[in-house]
Amino acid sequence: MSKLSRRNFSLLVGGVLCCSCGRVAAQSDPSVCDPSFEATNGAAGSVINYGSVTPLFEDTSDDFDDDYKNSFVWVLADIANYLGLNFGFGLYTETTIPNAAFVPADLIKPMKPDLPSDGTILVGRNLLKETRRVTKNLGAALTALCAHESGHALQRKHRLLYKFTTAGDSFFQVRYELCADFVCGYYGAHRVERQPNYPVLIQAITQLRKGDQIFEPSGHGAPKHRADAVQAGAAFGRLHPGDGKAAVNAGVEYALALKFQ
Ligand SMILES: [Zn+2]
Repeated sequence: MSKLSRRNFSLLVGGVLCCSCGRVAAQSDPSVCDPSFEATNGAAGSVINYGSVTPLFEDTSDDFDDDYKNSFVWVLADIANYLGLNFGFGLYTETTIPNAAFVPADLIKPMKPDLPSDGTILVGRNLLKETRRVTKNLGAALTALCAHESGHALQRKHRLLYKFTTAGDSFFQVRYELCADFVCGYYGAHRVERQPNYPVLIQAITQLRKGDQIFEPSGHGAPKHRADAVQAGAAFGRLHPGDGKAAVNAGVEYALALKFQ
């Protein structure tokens, strides 16, 4: 979609998602969404059509084999537990650019179905294929993408979205995205702690690859912005482990303090 206005940003993040790689892609009128940041997908009107969303273990495409699913579900549970989240995870087929999404609605049953849900994280099949093609470690790359979306889940869970819309500058969306990259790095530090040979650099490289080649205030940040945010989150994580709320608050501070030309 074209550049986001501050109002449309509010509507989008309130009603639906944000993405990992490409710009938020509205496929219907976002004005039907509740701008309160508390709207759910559906009742207030969905602005994104994800089509058929498939839980990880029900996916029958060749995107993941069963062995990979069995490993990846551990990673998802670890991300959720470490950051203090409870989300569902699934795959969808993008209709535009390769993408991933956080959706503040239960499109898929959360991992702990008896506890309150924090929403759904989706990875597009085209993004999965693209990532598999370019990365040296698919597990770490997917971890980066999912940890970034978890950053958006934390932003919503802890009601921090207003921080980006009242900052009074034109870079609010970039800051919103780089805060999520900070959380991505925060989780990476935890993985290194548990698994010293974990290739955490892949997380920074994955987000760097998804940086905007031409910087735009309504984008996700230039490649270096994204890699720097991941590294900053990792540095914070080494000093302040095990606190997703602290991580996202630090991510907000980091992102709001960034100077853009
Ligand atoms: Zn994002």
